Amino acid sequence: MYDYLPQILFTIGFILMALFFYSLFKLRNRLAPMFSLMCLAIAVYVLGYGFELTSADLEQIKFFLKVEYFGASVFPAFWLLLSYKFRYNKPCPFGMRVLIFVIPALTLLITSTNEYHHLYYADITVVEQGRYLLAQLTRGPWYYVFAVYSYIALLFGTFVFFMSWRQASYSFRTQSFWMLLGSVLPALVNFIYLLKVIPSELDLTAFAFLTLAIAYFIALFKYDFLELKEIVRGHAFGQINEGIIVVDEDDRIIDYNNAGQKTFNWLNAYNIGKSIFSFDEGREIRGNAESSFELEISREGRRKFFEFRVTALKEKSRMVGSIYIFQDISKQKQVMDELNHMATHDGLSSIFNRRKLLEEAEKELSRAVRYGGDISILMIDIDRFKQVNDGYGHLAGDKVIHYVAQSCRERLRRTDIIGRYGGEEFAVILPETDRENARIVAEEIRKRIAEIIIRFEASSIKVTISIGVTSVADRHGQITLQELVNEADKALYTAKSSGRNQVSVFQ
Ligand code: GH3
Ligand code: MG
Ligand code: MG
Repeated sequence: MYDYLPQILFTIGFILMALFFYSLFKLRNRLAPMFSLMCLAIAVYVLGYGFELTSADLEQIKFFLKVEYFGASVFPAFWLLLSYKFRYNKPCPFGMRVLIFVIPALTLLITSTNEYHHLYYADITVVEQGRYLLAQLTRGPWYYVFAVYSYIALLFGTFVFFMSWRQASYSFRTQSFWMLLGSVLPALVNFIYLLKVIPSELDLTAFAFLTLAIAYFIALFKYDFLELKEIVRGHAFGQINEGIIVVDEDDRIIDYNNAGQKTFNWLNAYNIGKSIFSFDEGREIRGNAESSFELEISREGRRKFFEFRVTALKEKSRMVGSIYIFQDISKQKQVMDELNHMATHDGLSSIFNRRKLLEEAEKELSRAVRYGGDISILMIDIDRFKQVNDGYGHLAGDKVIHYVAQSCRERLRRTDIIGRYGGEEFAVILPETDRENARIVAEEIRKRIAEIIIRFEASSIKVTISIGVTSVADRHGQITLQELVNEADKALYTAKSSGRNQVSVFQ
């Protein structure tokens, strides 16, 4: 094999050239351009080295040494940029790129003019080794400068791939592994060569570079598909209408999407990595243990409702974080509230309808049975209402019903329940109120109504009401709602037959 070293190097060179063209024209991922340049740099170096080995004299060797450096000087820079882009997912800043190329540029200049200053090689002689003329190089000061530079680049790259391999998410792990594998070998071989452990003047780095290029190529080839997948995922993640917040197991904000950012202004690049508990809304979100929940948020006096779903993020059954997906349900909530209001309220009087009234009354009654406490019922009926309808018209009657209901309600406590029982009849449930107190309330309501004047078009309408009162007293559990209503109705009848505009208590 030793006899065919140049042929082997030419083959490697051609493989690298093929990788260069393939990655330049066929690969479609973000690392491909830098990778192809790196392949080209290595190819120039390896081919130059192949020709160096076929040289017949010192002059030819010197010439091909210069050729080699057209590749060798820029290779570490390309590697640096490739690993930077791999790690940070963006191109290196322009200023830094210029800095990175300072030493390669100087190295290229110095190696191609070495005979005038001997800064790179203090001396170049030849030795015969087997069938080859090998260059015996005495290193100059710049040789070490460039060596240190190359090692920093190689270490950075190896470190980057190592870190990515350790931390990478599912899809990038294999890729990082191949990149790492590809990086370690040439670095190792070159290091041994640099230490001159192997007595030969033969630089094996060229062979190691082939493994590097192939390992990287495998990584990038796989990555081509992965990246498309990632782009699609990233796009979906970013553009989806629902808001997304990703938190790790230590409650740190890891990621969010556009919709998330629009809703919560604390979701911004600056706060990535901060604890979600540092934000009031974040605390409310994270503090919720349910797998789906609703959150009400007041903003500039407006209430907004969000529906959250939480999914645990697991990797190999280990909890690594949570993903919160949410949407603004304020509109749905509003519609629901309106529907609910319509289902429970009377359209004309805006108080509870009969069904809701009876439902709430039953609840109060059973509560009174459980916890004790009296409970009273008022039945209210507008006096001579037919005359209102006949005298002022049905619309006027409607308005009267509305006004009377609202006036009654205004006098009541929040815990009292009022509903429209029938045409111009209302029922009131007074929890924690005994017969005497209920009578007092009823009397106040009666007076109040007798005083108001309801204006309808040009007319001023006055009405009175009669009220029947009854209460549970000590009959807890023995009396039904219907029986109570009947009692109040009887009392109401008494009030009517005693001349109307009065309160009557059931005896
Ligand atoms: P009383 O003092 O005995 O209660 O006399 P009244 O005229 O109120 O007699 P009654 O309770 O029998 O009549 C109620 C009337 O209320 C009958 C009905 O036409 C009218 N009414 C019922 N519902 C409505 C309504 O929604 N709007 C209007 N404008 N009138 C209604
Ligand atoms: Mg009436
Ligand atoms: Mg009536």
